[in-house]
Amino acid sequence: MDRTYDAVVIGGGLLGCFAARALCRRKLRVALVEQREDVCTGISRANTAIVYAGYDTKPGTLKSRLTVQANREFDGLCRELGVRFRRCGSLMVAFGPRGRASLRRKLEQGAANGVEGLRLLDRAEALALEPALSPAVEAALWCPGVGTVDPWELCLAAAENAAANGAELLLSTRVTGLRAEGDRYVVETDRGDLSCRGVVNCAGIRADQVAELLHRPTIRIVPTKGDYFVLDTGAGEHLRHVIFHEPEEKGKGLTLVPTVDGNVLLGPSEEGAEDREDTASSEEGLAFLRRLAGEVAPGLPLEVIRSFAAIRPNPYEALVDGETGAVTLSQKSIGEFMVTRLEEYPGLVSMIGIKTPGLTCAKLLGEHAAWLLSRQLGDPPANPDFCPERRAPVRVAGLPEDELAALVARDPAYGRVVCRCRMVTEGEIRDAVRRTPGAVTLDGVKYRTGAGMGRCQGGVCTERVLEILARERGVSPAEIAKGRPGSWLVKEGGDGQI
Ligand SMILES: Cc1cc2nc3c(=O)[nH]c(=O)nc-3n(C[C@H](O)[C@H](O)[C@H](O)COP(=O)(O)OP(=O)(O)OC[C@H]3O[C@@H](n4cnc5c(N)ncnc54)[C@H](O)[C@@H]3O)c2cc1C
Repeated sequence: MDRTYDAVVIGGGLLGCFAARALCRRKLRVALVEQREDVCTGISRANTAIVYAGYDTKPGTLKSRLTVQANREFDGLCRELGVRFRRCGSLMVAFGPRGRASLRRKLEQGAANGVEGLRLLDRAEALALEPALSPAVEAALWCPGVGTVDPWELCLAAAENAAANGAELLLSTRVTGLRAEGDRYVVETDRGDLSCRGVVNCAGIRADQVAELLHRPTIRIVPTKGDYFVLDTGAGEHLRHVIFHEPEEKGKGLTLVPTVDGNVLLGPSEEGAEDREDTASSEEGLAFLRRLAGEVAPGLPLEVIRSFAAIRPNPYEALVDGETGAVTLSQKSIGEFMVTRLEEYPGLVSMIGIKTPGLTCAKLLGEHAAWLLSRQLGDPPANPDFCPERRAPVRVAGLPEDELAALVARDPAYGRVVCRCRMVTEGEIRDAVRRTPGAVTLDGVKYRTGAGMGRCQGGVCTERVLEILARERGVSPAEIAKGRPGSWLVKEGGDGQI
């Protein structure tokens, strides 16, 4: 196998997939290296799923400029990639004088950033728009541009489109070293070395560690985590808009999100993390969410179907002592998007500690990193074969009856329902395995099709999904994991029985 590339992207999250896609717009040989068996298993898998408008970020920053632009372009991006997007609008709600003052500041900040349609609402207007809110609400900042998207759908679509445009996806491949050799870089992996002219480091929670495989510390990540609840679709019927709660006391408010699937996402809390892999949700975090939900939206039924925790990559400037080499961190976390490279290593572009709104800006951040690297590579010509469009997978739920009947007549697998909660069929699960990158785990099927994401959380369909997955991959069900390697669901006995 030829392991020589123009550009290697490290990390198959939203940033890496969009960076790889952007690099494919040029005549470049591109590889995307991801340590896990699938893309979208890191921060991009667990977040708040909001497409921000840009009123909450400091004027004049890269973050504000990209957020406002990304929000305006989001409908077009989702059309191009066949991804669902719900531009539902948001209400930032206040319950007292501190909150009200904050809303006014955000209105001014938003206007300075060029966010359109912002308006302050009084109690009656807020309650008319969102009856599930507490009648104690005093004021709200209305923003029509905010929306919600399925982060997995977006990430998978970017990965598929990058692959369709020639990017090689090297999954289950962990980067273990990076070194410069003349004007090239060697990316060492647990599956052998790759040689390239440039690298984009999008390793998420480990992006600082990957950068430090090559150079001195510049930015270090300190992880924290946040808990979430997913509420059943019954709650979704009660919530029309994204709600940001501006608390009266200092500290974290609550966010409520009506998802594209009709559920409600509630969270995140803010807690310390044991380490970078610590995604266990905590009693305190979930109790905090329950309490705030009762205060902010008592009209919302708390029908919890799942809880999970997300990990935040908080970036701090790393100050290195010239004599001892000891590293201390800046007092304050960096608020700006950090897309960096060192003069000594112009061929390595790193995105370290990209937090909210990294999902909103993933396409533009990917393009920004690709542009920086392309300049370093001598501005290669445009790829005339690049196609930005991606064919969306079939979704049986919600298809008009006549279309569904025609589909089933052509292919009966679309008539065999596997996940009853979300109406996902055998045909859709089969397609999820056959796409590139295709599902290899139960989670991979879940994120591509929604099977197992409904009220019963896979209680009914897991066995059947496992069978289809094993059949399609031509392996034993005992070789299929839930997610990361080792998370096996069934065991093969000595007699070959499962
Ligand atoms: C709690 C939370 C809520 C958020 N909510 C929002 C929101 O509502 N809206 C919004 O716009 N943004 C939001 N964001 C931000 C957004 O989710 C991220 O900016 C975005 O997902 C980008 O992730 P990423 O690609 O940097 O990282 P990841 O998705 O983590 O991808 C990094 C990848 O690198 C891989 N990797 C790591 N090390 C190696 C290695 N050595 N070799 C190979 N691969 C490696 C990992 O396995 C991983 O797949 C939120 C973030 C957090 C933390």
